[in-house]
This record gives sequence, structure tokens and C-alpha cells, in this order.
Amino acid sequence: MKFIFDFDDVLFYNTKQFKEYMYECLEKAGIPRDVSLKYYKTVRENQFWLKDFLRHFSLEENMYEKMLNRSKGFVNTEMLTLLKKLGKENCYIVTHGNEQFQRDKIKITGIDSLVSEIFVISESKKEAVENICAKHKNEKVIFVDDKAKHFENLDFKKYPNLKTILYDERGLEKLVLEIKK
Ligand SMILES: [Mg+2]
Repeated sequence: MKFIFDFDDVLFYNTKQFKEYMYECLEKAGIPRDVSLKYYKTVRENQFWLKDFLRHFSLEENMYEKMLNRSKGFVNTEMLTLLKKLGKENCYIVTHGNEQFQRDKIKITGIDSLVSEIFVISESKKEAVENICAKHKNEKVIFVDDKAKHFENLDFKKYPNLKTILYDERGLEKLVLEIKK
């Protein structure tokens, strides 16, 4: 059995913890939340990168390292325990966003050592996910993501070994049940 994990809001508490922390840091540096939120909304779909964000508000570059360092505390520890059990050779990450920012976050949290390959994509996850399914066509491949839109164009006819799990408040429970099937 192989596993494909999304990173933000699956392995890493991006929305609930990292972003909150980011807005707090910016507030402390004198950027009100409504101003940073407005800017975030304009760049979100455009491959958000924290370094650009800091540059936009003329903030110090070292804030990037500082904020990244704190990211270590924002990992989903339950999911990490599971990844360790599943084994590096069975796990992949397919994440959406800015290549450098995603790789920096994955590296600083140490999650890079728990997966065999990491794919950072800027548009659809379809190709990366289906390539993994093709590579392991005799095994079940479970793809876990918190956004249902990433499941929409997948070819389940061509890849009957693919199973998707929407990572919501019952995400871990659903995943464990699927593994036991
Ligand atoms: Mg996500």
C-alpha cells in the first residue's frame, strides 16, 4: 500500500496555526491584520511566498528564518506518528504552492525524512498523483487531501488502485479504517 499526502492542513497545521502565527508576527512588526489579510488574498492563488510577503511590507529578511523555525511546532503529530509506522518507502507528498516555500517548510519540520519523494506543483495535482498510481499499479494508493477539488479530475477508471480520503475532522479516523480494509 502506498500513500500520497497533501502537506498544508494535513501534515502541517497551516491555516489554524502557521498563518495565525504569521499574522501575529506581522502585527507585532506594525502591520495590522486587515492590511496583511488583504495582501494575502491578492497573492494567495498566485503562489504565495512568505519572503515576498515580508519584502512587500519592507520587513527584515531574518523574520523569514524566525517564522520558519517556529513551524517545527505546527506539525500534525498524530499524522507524523502514522507516517513513521507506514514507512518512508510507502509515503509521498504532493503539495500545492510556491516551490521554495513548501520545500523550506517540509524540510524544517523534518517531514522530508519520512517520505520517499516530494512533488511541489503549481496547478493540478492530477499528473503527480496518477504517475504514482501508474508506478504502483498492483498496490492500493491512498491519496489524502483536505481539499476535495484536488480529487475532481482524477481518472479512477484508468487507476482503479486509487482511493481518496478527504482530510476533515474525521480524516485520520477514515484513513486508519481504509488501511485496515
Ligand atoms: Mg491542503
